[in-house]
Amino acid sequence: MTTMKALVFHGPNDIRVEKVPKPVAGPDEAIVKVTLTTICGTDIHILSGGYPVRPGLIIGHEFVGVIDSLGAGVTGINVGDRVAVGAITPCGTCFYCQSGAPAQCGGLIGGWKFGNTIDGAQAEYIKIPYAQYNITKIPDELTDEQVLFVGDIMTTGFSASDSAKVKIGDAVAIFAQGPVGLCATVGARLSGATKVITVESIPERMEMSKRMGADIVLDYTKVDVISEIKKHTGGYGVDVAIEAIGTQQTFENCIRSVRPGGVVSSLGVYEKNVTIPLDAFGAGIGDINIMSTLCPGGYERLRRMISVIQSGRADLTPLITHTFSLDDILEGYRIFGNKLDKVLKVAIRP
Ligand SMILES: [Zn+2]
Ligand SMILES: [Zn+2]
Repeated sequence: MTTMKALVFHGPNDIRVEKVPKPVAGPDEAIVKVTLTTICGTDIHILSGGYPVRPGLIIGHEFVGVIDSLGAGVTGINVGDRVAVGAITPCGTCFYCQSGAPAQCGGLIGGWKFGNTIDGAQAEYIKIPYAQYNITKIPDELTDEQVLFVGDIMTTGFSASDSAKVKIGDAVAIFAQGPVGLCATVGARLSGATKVITVESIPERMEMSKRMGADIVLDYTKVDVISEIKKHTGGYGVDVAIEAIGTQQTFENCIRSVRPGGVVSSLGVYEKNVTIPLDAFGAGIGDINIMSTLCPGGYERLRRMISVIQSGRADLTPLITHTFSLDDILEGYRIFGNKLDKVLKVAIRP
């Protein structure tokens, strides 16, 4: 039996780098040698026990790599190809996929399989299900670092504006400028928003927010965010408010800062119930739309994300603030999980 190194979840606050069997590709599957991966905020929810997964699982879902082997039935991709893979891996054929909700493949949150219901990417190799649907080649001129985020935080961040149908000239507010929020800022601007207002308090994230295209960055510890947003939008409120962290406060502030008839576009992972402030919600008849989006996937979506990078319209490499080997990944978790050392994203090189 061939083995490989991987990060295995054993229980809350118990993850270990271990030798495990190298996966083998069955029909419609591919094995990818992971060349670069990263830690996602969702992995921190898993590590803390806030999002439960089964002990023994290899975690991680954001990565790029090289095709190591292919199972029967996978065409158009060859061994040795450099590829990007979605963090979610829909089947393409079930009720949910065919009903226009591939991220919910198989049932609620079901499209998210890597490091959730099947082995993930913080390993030397990973097995890709439904490979035909979920893999896109990386153009030679792009580095792994340039495309590392296309399968998760970039597609997720951009989806906030896609889902809300941001129009040219819109005012958009984004609450929280962590990695996903920063990608949402880039996406809002690319979608045509001409006033992008972001809310954050960590100085280096506020600075990065400006670099990623925010017109106005508000520090919620220093100003009344809602009145500032109203002030910057002629008293109306924003057309779209994006929630990018998953707390009651930010969810509520989205509802309070959006104009009547506007859209609250939620990306955060919530660990508790959230409540809707009735006054701001117009007692339920304010024409305010609340929507949530899980990471969109599929090879065509990946190709579109890569084309944004390739065209020079976005550069997300400044988000990589640290790099670790797989052996040192626990240090990566410590720094990323505790937001130490001005961290934004840590790259892991197996
Ligand atoms: Zn993620
Ligand atoms: Zn499906």
